Amino acid sequence: MSSRAHLLNDRTAEHYRRSLTDGVGRVADRLARTERPFTGVTPAELAPAVSSIDLDQPLQDPGAALDELEDVYLRDAVYFHHPRYLAHLNCPVAIPAVLGEAVLAAVNSSLDTWDQSAGGTLIERRLIDWTAGRIGLGKAADGIFTSGGTQSNLQALLLAREEACRLVRKNSETAQPTSAILPRLRVLASECGHFSVEKAARLLGLGPEAVIPVPCDRDRRMRASALEQELARCAEEDLVVMAVVVTAGTTDFGSIDPLPQVAALCEAAGVWMHVDAAYGCGLLVSPRRGHLLAGIERADSVTVDYHKSFFQPVSSSAVLVRDRSTLRHVTYHADYLNPARSVAERIPNQVDKSIQTTRRFDALKLWMTLRVMGADTVGELFDEVVDRAADAWRLLDADPRYEVVTEPQLSTLVFRYVPEDAAGIPDSLVDKANLHAREALFASGDAVVAGTVVDGRHHLKFTLLNPETTLDDIAVVLDLLAGHAESFLAPARRA
Ligand SMILES: *Cc1c(COP(=O)(O)O)cnc(C)c1O
Repeated sequence: MSSRAHLLNDRTAEHYRRSLTDGVGRVADRLARTERPFTGVTPAELAPAVSSIDLDQPLQDPGAALDELEDVYLRDAVYFHHPRYLAHLNCPVAIPAVLGEAVLAAVNSSLDTWDQSAGGTLIERRLIDWTAGRIGLGKAADGIFTSGGTQSNLQALLLAREEACRLVRKNSETAQPTSAILPRLRVLASECGHFSVEKAARLLGLGPEAVIPVPCDRDRRMRASALEQELARCAEEDLVVMAVVVTAGTTDFGSIDPLPQVAALCEAAGVWMHVDAAYGCGLLVSPRRGHLLAGIERADSVTVDYHKSFFQPVSSSAVLVRDRSTLRHVTYHADYLNPARSVAERIPNQVDKSIQTTRRFDALKLWMTLRVMGADTVGELFDEVVDRAADAWRLLDADPRYEVVTEPQLSTLVFRYVPEDAAGIPDSLVDKANLHAREALFASGDAVVAGTVVDGRHHLKFTLLNPETTLDDIAVVLDLLAGHAESFLAPARRA
């Protein structure tokens, strides 16, 4: 094959069709016959297959490369579509979205400027407006697709920081250089919030003391009274709260902070309210649970991860803002790309709103999903997994082998194996048994579950995002986990 035959164009369209069809066929076969979410392969077992491949010796043939891919990836991948994959916030993906992914990769639009995307820009803008409308952010809202919740949170906090600095300058009689303001900035975030908030603060030039954790209640929701106290304390100490970050669906517990109370406090204090709805955004399309997000419409910015609860392939995420003018804080002009005059000419250049430059047309996946399935169908699927989590909670709550931390609002369950006859078994050993149960299950490949630490103790965690997961699957996985935990404890019992 000539070297140019590998590039996609008018003359190679047929080669593209065959190549993709072959690849899709193999993935379809693989998906159809995966019996377990994972093979249990270890890094040490798999690494030689990957490292022995000579990257300077191409195979020239897509079929041969796909054969090889079976050995280094497809056979041992972790499959999120499997009903016994219960670990992280990974969803089975909607077929229309996967179709969108294939289209966007082939056309390869870049959404930084109109002259690299055309209709892609308009589609992205429609979806941003649609999402802002679902949230209820009002007429001045806007936003941008991002690579994920981490980036969305970073951008939201960047805008909040710039707005806070602007207000400090406006309200002060003396000149205030940014370097004098930054050390006074604080972010108040739920102690159950996502670590990307701290990471963002660091990237934004704030010190480790800048993010103040606000205590949560037993259901792992931010205590509004604690937030009120922190706001008052910061004011007394002449600190500037640049943002309050609340979470609509914490990663561990799916808990939703009290949005209306927080909104009222933020409005009274004149503080930017950011809602991290990376996980809970599925409620925006839920036919039965939309009310759980009441108050989100009062946010200044919102993070949504379509790749979590909208069944979209990674990546697909957005940050939305109430006031589109705040996006100017990320607007820079380059003569070769988006010259300042393009604003006057009303050329829609999305790079003006993004912290990225070259940017994928991820919006197309959501577009295809809404055009084929519709928002209600997406929301019904999310409702189904939330229902399943409620049923699973009842199962766990009635199971003497397990302690469950909270009754879920969304679709996660955090629980702990507690031996029935625990006499003489120290708590540290129970902790290790829980760790072991998760690792042994992963190594078996029978199911994949997550783990986390609550109040210093190891817990197990299910994240349900697959409507195919039945209560029976959950019961089976609980038996498997108990079996692994017990075989770990057996020597201690005999001793
Ligand atoms: C997953 C998650 C994030 C991070 O999103 P990524 O898409 O993984 O970058 C942020 N906040 C919450 C609450 C999350 O669950």
